[in-house]
Amino acid sequence: MCGSDLRLNDYPFDLEAAHIKWHAYDGPDEVANGLALCGFHHNSFDRGVWVLKAQHSDLVVHVSDGLRGRSSAINLLRDFQDCPIYLPETNEYHPDQQYVRWHQDYFGFGNSLIEIPQEI
Ligand SMILES: [Zn+2]
Repeated sequence: MCGSDLRLNDYPFDLEAAHIKWHAYDGPDEVANGLALCGFHHNSFDRGVWVLKAQHSDLVVHVSDGLRGRSSAINLLRDFQDCPIYLPETNEYHPDQQYVRWHQDYFGFGNSLIEIPQEI
């Protein structure tokens, strides 16, 4: 999401593999159920502070209206509102919509984030 490339010397320490659909809810260990995130964005994604939203061929960040805080850390989320995430070049590695929707539904974002075609 943020493209964190923090390293200590040559050791990257801030890149984590996140399940979209939690392992505890039978989310599989497969690339299509995963995101590469920094620790902060992983933690906030797992708590439903933000979800992914399909928009055309992109997946964009949708931050919860319930997000509160006065520190500058809040901008580490709000600055990404409606921004597309980086997707792998190979389509088979893109996040699967079933997992993205599970995550939306679990945190109550529900059908409001499903893209409505302009022409029905
Ligand atoms: Zn991040």
